[in-house]
Amino acid sequence: MSLPSPVDVAIIGAGAAGLSAAHALQNSGLSVIVLEARDRVGGRAHTIMAAPGITFDLGCGWLHSADKNRFVGIAAQLNFEIDKTRPPWREQSFDAGFPLAERQDFVRALDAFYGRAEQAAQKAIPSGQDEAASDYLEPGNRWNPMIDALSSYINGCELDAVSILDMDAYEDTQINWRVRRGYGALIAAYGASCPLALNCEVSLIDHSGQQIRIETSLGALTADKVIVTVPTNLIADELVRFHPALPAKVDAAFGLPLGLADKVMLALDEPEALPKDGNLRGATMRTAMGSYHLRPFGQACIEGYFGGSFAQELEEAGPDAFAAQSIDEIAALIGNDYRRKLKPLAESRWSHDPFARGSYSHALPGHAGKRAVLAAPVDGRLFFAGEATSPNFFSTAHGAGDSGERAAKEVMAAVKA
Ligand SMILES: Cc1cc2nc3c(=O)[nH]c(=O)nc-3n(C[C@H](O)[C@H](O)[C@H](O)COP(=O)(O)OP(=O)(O)OC[C@H]3O[C@@H](n4cnc5c(N)ncnc54)[C@H](O)[C@@H]3O)c2cc1C
Repeated sequence: MSLPSPVDVAIIGAGAAGLSAAHALQNSGLSVIVLEARDRVGGRAHTIMAAPGITFDLGCGWLHSADKNRFVGIAAQLNFEIDKTRPPWREQSFDAGFPLAERQDFVRALDAFYGRAEQAAQKAIPSGQDEAASDYLEPGNRWNPMIDALSSYINGCELDAVSILDMDAYEDTQINWRVRRGYGALIAAYGASCPLALNCEVSLIDHSGQQIRIETSLGALTADKVIVTVPTNLIADELVRFHPALPAKVDAAFGLPLGLADKVMLALDEPEALPKDGNLRGATMRTAMGSYHLRPFGQACIEGYFGGSFAQELEEAGPDAFAAQSIDEIAALIGNDYRRKLKPLAESRWSHDPFARGSYSHALPGHAGKRAVLAAPVDGRLFFAGEATSPNFFSTAHGAGDSGERAAKEVMAAVKA
């Protein structure tokens, strides 16, 4: 394909952020192209059919803060059914290995931890004196490893790498819905009407001249304005380079690394023996464990979730390590006959994905302010979006979408100025 050149606006990356930016620019009168390295749109939003009748979101699956989530309205417009079943995260089906009284004790410890961290963050806001969230674990509390396991799912890393100011800035309205045909499928459908160049990997953004020159695997093009939406790890490692260099952006990206979360999908024989939308935590009293969603949407399968350093360890162990770990944990909880009833179907490996290199961003202690630094435009010509630039909905698809619209509005304001 030959690239259009020159264009008014080039958007780098066709994930939730880039596609939302393209939509927001649709009636602006500006010529727009979205440059995407992959052969598909969606980025970290990606639905596959793991088997006939089994929808699997390898990336985002939950419409978090659904009452403030742009993709709820978009789903309605595009005729994607929303499922409002409450998430089973605080349950343990059959009380397996984790009886109700223990769960209640865990939830008390968890809530107390969040309470301490929130209080500390509120006190620290005026001075900006940031700390690691792990400082607010109660020394010696028996639930600390499990609280850390939860952090590995939520933040993609353990609490010692999480800023309390950033954790406090996250806005969670506690309403979590799902898209029956897949969140990734919804975002791909949303992208279908955008002007796209696929298989187009950007390596250099040269903003030394009057026009911005963009070097890609499909050749070079020039643009008046550029919106950059690639994940932070790619900016930090300078896989997308700027000329002249932008050290403040590279530094900000280093402060906002992508943590790791991975999923595995297992086919389930004799599904009726397990509850629809049930849940199992693989273990208690340790951080290295999976969390299992039983029969999501009533499908004949179990979806496993792993985070942080344990997810990294299992990715390094090679294909099928997630499935083997999941089957061991599930069999230990609900019976050895599940070894024969479960069959691996698919898994994600986000840290090995060259165009993501991780799952979602967290701010390192001392770096909560870097989201605003990363989001700030440069010279009225370079604009930045992507989940890591969202002030309150970072790490999510809707936060990425909001940031894309914000960057598009900045572009339109700059054009008018
Ligand atoms: C396992 C997992 C579970 C998740 N669960 C949820 C959830 O339940 N709910 C939720 O809201 N969020 C969830 N997320 C996070 C959510 O998927 C992301 O925050 C969101 O999709 C990020 O969108 P983005 O546009 O910022 O980045 P991306 O989707 O990463 O888009 C950036 C795009 O840039 C492209 N790109 C990279 N390098 C180049 C280059 N050199 N040239 C051109 N293009 C390039 C990439 O291919 C990609 O398409 C999850 C993520 C993972 C991995």
